[in-house]
Amino acid sequence: MALSVFTVVFSGILGACLGSFANVLAVRWHEMGAPVGRSRCPLCRKTIRPKHLVPIFSYLILRGRCADCKAKIHIQYPLVELAVAILSVVAALRHNPLGSDFPAFAVELALVTLLAAIVVMDLRWKELPVEIMALIGFSALIVHVFAGSSFDIRHSIFELRNLVLAVALPLVFFGAQWLLSRGKWLGGGDVWFGVMMGLVLGNWQMTALAIYISYLAGGCAAAILLMTKILKRGANLPFAPFLALGLMLTVWFGISIQAWIAKFIF
Ligand SMILES: [Zn+2]
Repeated sequence: MALSVFTVVFSGILGACLGSFANVLAVRWHEMGAPVGRSRCPLCRKTIRPKHLVPIFSYLILRGRCADCKAKIHIQYPLVELAVAILSVVAALRHNPLGSDFPAFAVELALVTLLAAIVVMDLRWKELPVEIMALIGFSALIVHVFAGSSFDIRHSIFELRNLVLAVALPLVFFGAQWLLSRGKWLGGGDVWFGVMMGLVLGNWQMTALAIYISYLAGGCAAAILLMTKILKRGANLPFAPFLALGLMLTVWFGISIQAWIAKFIF
């Protein structure tokens, strides 16, 4: 689908702003007791001026340093803003935000924004916010019930039995690993991430595919990081980034992959 320049700019800016929101959500959620309100520099505690809150550009203009005390700004901020901006353009490519497809665009954008916050929290602090995952799962359930097929899993009709299997699969598969390893292979948060995946995809075949992709990507990344000695043997690799990758790749390409596999089986 061809996209107008306006749509790309509109969705890109919207995505960058939502990326900025994901950053704030992750940091504030981690700090918990931190006051709600204006953003401050974590070092000098000075309130950040509005002109320095522009996603991506402020980081570049300030050369990655606080305008007051010159402390380094965490690379998380521009990276997440850029990532969500790109994901927003991808969502616009799949669902025209300026047409009747806007609800599907908004749902996908909300999903990638909240996933970005979860991935940041797992990468930086090894924390998985169960409440945010519950929010995504519950919202997905509502979308499934009222919209049926907004996640572009267009050909699979939403069924209760399939949804129960989609939730049971990660719950049993991840839950068993968590119990057997006493939380060493997988954290309890990863089990809930799996359940959320099942709720979002609403289909057990798609959930199995998403889990498979997550393990494949995680395994490849672990092998590369071990060989290059970036990751030390016995150290834990955060799993949420790979689960999020598996989930989004399945949302985007699940139906095509399923059709491709079916060609070999039948
Ligand atoms: Zn400062």
